[in-house]
Amino acid sequence: MSLIDASGRSHRDAPVLRFDPTREEFAELLHGEPRYRLDQAWTGLHERGDKIDNLTNLPKALRQRIDEELPLGLTPEEESVSDDGETVKWLWRLHDGHQIETVLMHYDDRTTVCVSSQAGCAMACSFCATGQSGFDRHLSVGEIVEQVVRARRASAPRRVSNIVFMGMGEPFANYDRTWAAVERINQDLGIGARHITISTVGVVPGIDRLAKEDLPVNLAVSLHFANDEDRNKLVPLNVRYPLAMLEESCARYLDAKNRRLSFEWALIDGVNDRSSDADELAILARRLRAHVNLIPLNPTPGYLTRGTPMDRVYEFRDRLTGMGVNATVRRTRGTEIDAACGQLRASRQLVDPPRRR
Ligand code: SAH
Repeated sequence: MSLIDASGRSHRDAPVLRFDPTREEFAELLHGEPRYRLDQAWTGLHERGDKIDNLTNLPKALRQRIDEELPLGLTPEEESVSDDGETVKWLWRLHDGHQIETVLMHYDDRTTVCVSSQAGCAMACSFCATGQSGFDRHLSVGEIVEQVVRARRASAPRRVSNIVFMGMGEPFANYDRTWAAVERINQDLGIGARHITISTVGVVPGIDRLAKEDLPVNLAVSLHFANDEDRNKLVPLNVRYPLAMLEESCARYLDAKNRRLSFEWALIDGVNDRSSDADELAILARRLRAHVNLIPLNPTPGYLTRGTPMDRVYEFRDRLTGMGVNATVRRTRGTEIDAACGQLRASRQLVDPPRRR
């Protein structure tokens, strides 16, 4: 089989996509072309994020060859804009008909791209639209990297400063390809490791592997409950990796990396927004010196509880702050375009089932 099976393609029969190969693999796949031309092509596609047609310094024949032999992996199914143009969300169709989402968010001080690491997700968190519709497949390196390339092009002239793995999927369930994509985004696309955040629901072996990597990316853990009994119900993976194990692996990560850890907490009305929830969270967050990000839940089709109203979101934050925990309230972005994890795809599927080839 081809040289990029291990890290690049999503499965054996998948095509090799434009952003799957490493620089060396790219040169091997396009053998027969002069090295300096391949360097020009690589730089144009990755560093500048140019479209193939705009690489006018290359001979037309080479542009055509790249276009045919290394096709793009993402076809736009829908592009929606909200928050006065500050949030853009794409629903992409993959070569085999599966769908994923990418979101571009502009803030005053930064521009963030939220990428998917899998089509669907096997973690089955009850409140999450992606979790509700199940797992399709892992994304390839190229399918992850291309999300950043295309969002970055759409973002111009504003520069993309941050990448968060908070789209569809569990990045640590697709560790090798996610990590290869992180290295590519860092080295070839030029986004600093400290501006890349991987968010996990608590896959302990993934956190342990991350602790051994050289690149100092940020780790976010989606916590939502700080006691096992409640968390088991909301986040089924907690049965396999309960809070004590999760805490130990987070502590090992902190020892090894000396990076800040953050906890994500989607506030669900009457579910995890009680003062006892804040107290449990504060104790854990203090032990790990974790920063807490609070976001009111976006309601999803399969979980009809609403998000905590904003006045009580601030009360919850103040209670944490009063106990010595750093906590930030995140604005929900793109609510009217279903920008929460998996929601655009979920709402599309109600009217338009995914096309399969
Ligand atoms: N699987 C990874 C990354 C994808 S989810 C993880 O769990 O961290 C990205 C974030 O969106 C997580 O913090 C997740 O809990 C949150 N999320 C999922 N559904 C949501 C919803 N309906 N409202 C608010 N946040 C949600």
